[in-house]
Amino acid sequence: MADYMEIVNPANLEILEKIESADQQKVDEAVANAKQAWPKWAAMAPNDRAKLMRAFAKTVEENASELALIESKNVGKPIEDAKWEILEVAQVLLYYSGAVDKHYGATIPVAGGVDMTFNEPLGVVGAIVPWNFPALITSWKVGPALATGNVIIVKPAEWTPLSAIRLSEIALDCGIPKGVLTVLPGRGPVAGMGLVSHSDVAKIAFTGSTNVGKLIMQRASETIKRVTLELGGKSANVIFADADLDEAAKAAPMAVFGNTGQDCCARSRIIVEARVYEKFLEKLISYTKEVVVGDPLDSNTQVGPLVTKEHRARVDSFINPLESGVEVIFESKLPDLGGAFSPLRILATTKKTARVANEEIFGPVVTVIPFKDETEAIELANSTVYGLSGSIWTNSTGRALRVARALRSGTLSINSNSSVRTSTPFGGMGMSGIGRELGMEALRSYTEVKNVFISDHI
Ligand code: NAD
Repeated sequence: MADYMEIVNPANLEILEKIESADQQKVDEAVANAKQAWPKWAAMAPNDRAKLMRAFAKTVEENASELALIESKNVGKPIEDAKWEILEVAQVLLYYSGAVDKHYGATIPVAGGVDMTFNEPLGVVGAIVPWNFPALITSWKVGPALATGNVIIVKPAEWTPLSAIRLSEIALDCGIPKGVLTVLPGRGPVAGMGLVSHSDVAKIAFTGSTNVGKLIMQRASETIKRVTLELGGKSANVIFADADLDEAAKAAPMAVFGNTGQDCCARSRIIVEARVYEKFLEKLISYTKEVVVGDPLDSNTQVGPLVTKEHRARVDSFINPLESGVEVIFESKLPDLGGAFSPLRILATTKKTARVANEEIFGPVVTVIPFKDETEAIELANSTVYGLSGSIWTNSTGRALRVARALRSGTLSINSNSSVRTSTPFGGMGMSGIGRELGMEALRSYTEVKNVFISDHI
């Protein structure tokens, strides 16, 4: 019997659609179709491939309002954020359309002939995507995969498949051949693992939780599949006393509460120099009070609901009951809208081992921790198993550089909370993952280097 997934609007718990979840047979069909489409796509003149990708980017841009509404309703994302993300999707596709003919091999000086390398596509790539940025993260995988001559099957998250489905329809309308970009909605252990186990899938590009990443890496080993893993984070926002405290405090709330805290780069630990701790906290609370939580379809809203009630229960489990040594110093009021809304919470602790200082909550909760000097700041920032992102606020260039070099984190910003730009590499260290997405760097993980030597003796 067919298995249907209920797709719910978290702002009002209304069922938007019921989508059939792919079983193993559907996975096998999708892989067979992709495999058939691959040789033609890989052999297409680079200019023609680039043209199709440009058309795809342009049509996404033209349909940004429709796609943003889909994303907003499905994820509970504020509509203005959703619009920005869809325009970013178009930008990512456009960027990679320009990369089609710019990722090439080398000739290497050797004795007795000529040696050259080719960057060849892998074949069928499987992408497994989370629910927090469904369209955007899809584009991070589709862009470099298609540009380098691969075909791709995207498995969106169970809760949020709608924008990816629409993107695949747009791709077809733009002339991207059938089988080149397939969206396969389904459950993780069935459709996701089906792709991971399939011997005709050459690579899995995964974004999601660290625990599922471990399972995927394990299973991928059976077919020696390439994997890139973009996993969880517990990023530190390190604030030194010499920083512009007001700017740092103004930026801090949305650096963690943006996307309702469901952001792998959320600065969910604020590590602040002890001598400005009280002053900073006062400013942090005051700026947090200004954050507008409300209906995602209201253009003034900055923070919507959590993605589901189930996820809200997981977030709440970090607070109720509250572990010892942790204090709730601010909790916002809930809007009277029903849905899966959650208060914004600021916690404080000096207990380095506190769960809320180490584990990814993935909700609107920030933990503030004081430090006494630069050495302790680095030690604290590096003290979790993760290493995805982070910020350093200081007016000393030397300190900014020293601390940035000392932090075990793949993506850092100084006097800023920005993590992601289309043209720059993004990814994690430690349990935050393997590999980099975005920028020209991403192209490497979608290609295999082949070396060819031609003798000059014959
Ligand atoms: P998740 O790991 O539960 O799910 C992610 C995807 O994996 C979904 O498509 C899901 O269906 C699939 N999946 C689940 N179980 C599976 C299995 N056994 N086999 C194969 N696939 C399976 O993560 P989530 O809750 O959707 O997303 C939140 C997590 O994603 C957070 O930890 C967050 O930090 C992380 N994330 C990381 C980045 C990054 O770039 N590093 C970006 C966004 C989100």
